[in-house]
Amino acid sequence: APVIRLQSVQKSFALPNGEVFDAVQSLSLDIQQGDVFGLIGKSGAGKSTLLRLINLLERPDSGQVFVGGRDLTTLSRRELRDTRQNIGMIFQQFNLLQNATVFDNVAFPLKIHGRHSKAEINARVRECLALVGLAEKIDTYPAQLSGGQKQRVAIARALAPRPQVLLCDEPTSALDSETTRSLLETLREINQKIGVTIVIVTHELSVVEVLCRNVAILEKGRLVEQFAVDAPSVER
Ligand code: ADP
Ligand code: ADP
Repeated sequence: APVIRLQSVQKSFALPNGEVFDAVQSLSLDIQQGDVFGLIGKSGAGKSTLLRLINLLERPDSGQVFVGGRDLTTLSRRELRDTRQNIGMIFQQFNLLQNATVFDNVAFPLKIHGRHSKAEINARVRECLALVGLAEKIDTYPAQLSGGQKQRVAIARALAPRPQVLLCDEPTSALDSETTRSLLETLREINQKIGVTIVIVTHELSVVEVLCRNVAILEKGRLVEQFAVDAPSVER
């Protein structure tokens, strides 16, 4: 069964001049559990809107959005809270808490959720930092880290609640090409090790070519093409 399913999703915005802009139009898409899925398209194509529909920041005007088998348009507030734990997200600009240590950054979503013991939080933070290869940075602050290391901390933070889905919004746009390559390799390893479904939004075709197994192209809010990548070139 797909872990993410969009069915005839429509999302429009009212523009200041009174016109209606269709950011996402009659879009249907299935993403399978464990996949590494790339969403590409030019600026304004609707990529961010699509991610926001999946991560519960926007609701569609019509159509349905399912994550983990749950229809997001019919969830109670409590179910929404649980579903949020099932969706991790990373951003171009990392969005780390600057005045918190690496430990506290990664522990943050678990503390917010409020259902984990101290011992459990401790174990999860160490486990996730090990996954991204940053175990030894646990007591440092973001300012002491390189861009690539900051993004690794952000990945560890996103994975701490053990989500089924990791959404990545332009995750390498602030990184140089060597750092990008090594980060994509880490994402690939994480996908293989823990089976988390990765959805990556980018305007760079090269990023999806090396990492993704399946790719969809968005144009003016519509899905215009979808294809499988035969042999992603990051080491498997
Ligand atoms: P992409 O991520 O592919 O660049 P977006 O999803 O950010 O595309 O945006 C698609 C279009 O939707 C943008 O050109 C913008 O005009 C419009 N849009 C997105 N969010 C809003 C909003 N909250 N209010 C009004 N218009 C929006
Ligand atoms: P409330 O209005 O109770 O504070 P929310 O604003 O979080 O709660 O959500 C209101 C309703 O909108 C929820 O019942 C939920 O079903 C729906 N909703 C919120 N985000 C999304 C989304 N991204 N996609 C579909 N439905 C959503």
